[in-house]
Amino acid sequence: MASSSSASRALPDAHGRFGRYGGRYVPETLIPALDEITAAYAKTKKDKAFQKRFHVLLRTFVGRPTPLTWADRLSKKYARRIWLKREDLNHTGAHKINNAIGQALLAQKLGKQRIIAETGAGQHGVATATACALLGLKCRVYMGTEDMRRQQPNVFRMRLLGTEVVGVDSGTRTLKDAVNEALRDWVTNVESTHYILGSALGPHPYPVMVRDFQSVIGKEARAQILKAEGRLPDVLVACVGGGSNSIGLFHPFMKDTKVRFIGAEAGGRGAELGEHAARFSGGSFGVFQGMASYVLQDGDGQVVGTHSVSAGLDYASIGPEHAWLRDTKRAEYLRVSDAQALAGLHLLAETEGIIPALESAHAIGALPQVVERTRKNALLIINVSGRGDKDVAEVARLEGVAL
Ligand SMILES: *Cc1c(COP(=O)(O)O)cnc(C)c1O
Repeated sequence: MASSSSASRALPDAHGRFGRYGGRYVPETLIPALDEITAAYAKTKKDKAFQKRFHVLLRTFVGRPTPLTWADRLSKKYARRIWLKREDLNHTGAHKINNAIGQALLAQKLGKQRIIAETGAGQHGVATATACALLGLKCRVYMGTEDMRRQQPNVFRMRLLGTEVVGVDSGTRTLKDAVNEALRDWVTNVESTHYILGSALGPHPYPVMVRDFQSVIGKEARAQILKAEGRLPDVLVACVGGGSNSIGLFHPFMKDTKVRFIGAEAGGRGAELGEHAARFSGGSFGVFQGMASYVLQDGDGQVVGTHSVSAGLDYASIGPEHAWLRDTKRAEYLRVSDAQALAGLHLLAETEGIIPALESAHAIGALPQVVERTRKNALLIINVSGRGDKDVAEVARLEGVAL
C-alpha cells in the first residue's frame, strides 16, 4: 500500500470507496439519481459561474470568511499556542450552512424544485430550510418525534422559514429513523426531489461532496494561520459526529503530512455499548444507511442506541473517509465524555468569552488529552463548529439550574 497520505489523496475510487469504506448501499431505484448527482457535482467543480455564486453567498449571506481567533488565556492554561476557527459566527450558528447552500445550488442545477432533508437536533434542518428560503425551493424536513419534543425552538424556526417539518414516529423516534424516512421519500419522488444530506456520510457521492463544500473551513484556516504564524499548525482538532466539520478542516491539510489530525468523538456517560457514540472505540465494520463504515452494533449486526449530551454527535456510524483516515493512522480519534465536554463548554466561556455548541465543546474538552500527546508550545487550531445558544437551556437543565 502507498503511504496513507498519497493514497487518501486519490480517494475515493470511482465507486466512492475509501479502502473498504464508503460505496453505495441503497435501493436500485436511487442509483440513477446518485449517478446524476455525481456527474452534475463533478461539473460544478469546473463551472466558474457556480463556484462564483457559491462563494458570493458564503461571503454575503453566511458571513465568511469566519475569523481565526487567538485564544490567549486558553493558550496560557495549556502551554500550547491555540487558535480557534470560528464556525460559530456563521449565519444560523454553525458550519452546516456551508453544505446546505452548496447542495441547494446543485439542486437548482439539476432542475429539482423540491428538497428533502433529515435532522436530529434540528441544526441541519434549520440550515437547509434557510438555504431553501433563500433560493425559493420547496422544503420538507423529516425529524423524529422525540427529537421534535426536545428541540421545539428549531422546529418552530424551520416552520418560520417556510419548511414543512414531518414527525417520524418509528424506531427510537430520533435521527436514524428520520434518515430512513427521508430515504423512503426520495425513492418515491426521486424525479422531482433532491435529498440534502447533512454530513460527510451516506452513499457516494455525498461523503465527497459534503467534504468539498465544507473544505472552505480548512482552506481559510490554512491561509489564516500562515498569515498569523508564518507556518502550518502542528495539530488540528475538531469534534466528529458524521464527520463534516472535521473533514472540512482536515482536508486542505491532507498533503501536509506533518500536520496531525485529531477528532473528538462523543464518549457519552460510559464505555458500554449504548452509553456513547464513539464509533472507533465500540464500533466495528458494518453497513448502515447507504455506506460501509464503523458502526455501533451488537453481535447480531443490529445497530444499537447511542447516547451523547450533544445531539449532533449522537449517531451510530461515521463518515467513510474518517474510517479510512483512522485505519491508516493519518488521523487519531479521542473519546470525550459528556462531563469533559461540559467542562470544555465552561472553560471556553470563561477563558475566551465564547459559549460553544455542546458538539464543539467536545473539541475543547479533548484538550487535556491533546496536551498529553503534543510538545510544549505546539501550534493548534481547534474548530468551534457552532455556537452554544441552542444548548443553553439544556446545559441549565443538566446542571439543575431553573431558567
Ligand atoms: C451537526 C453538528 C456537528 C456534528 O456534525 P459533523 O458532520 O460531524 O460536523 C458538530 N457541531 C455542530 C455545531 C453541529 O451542529
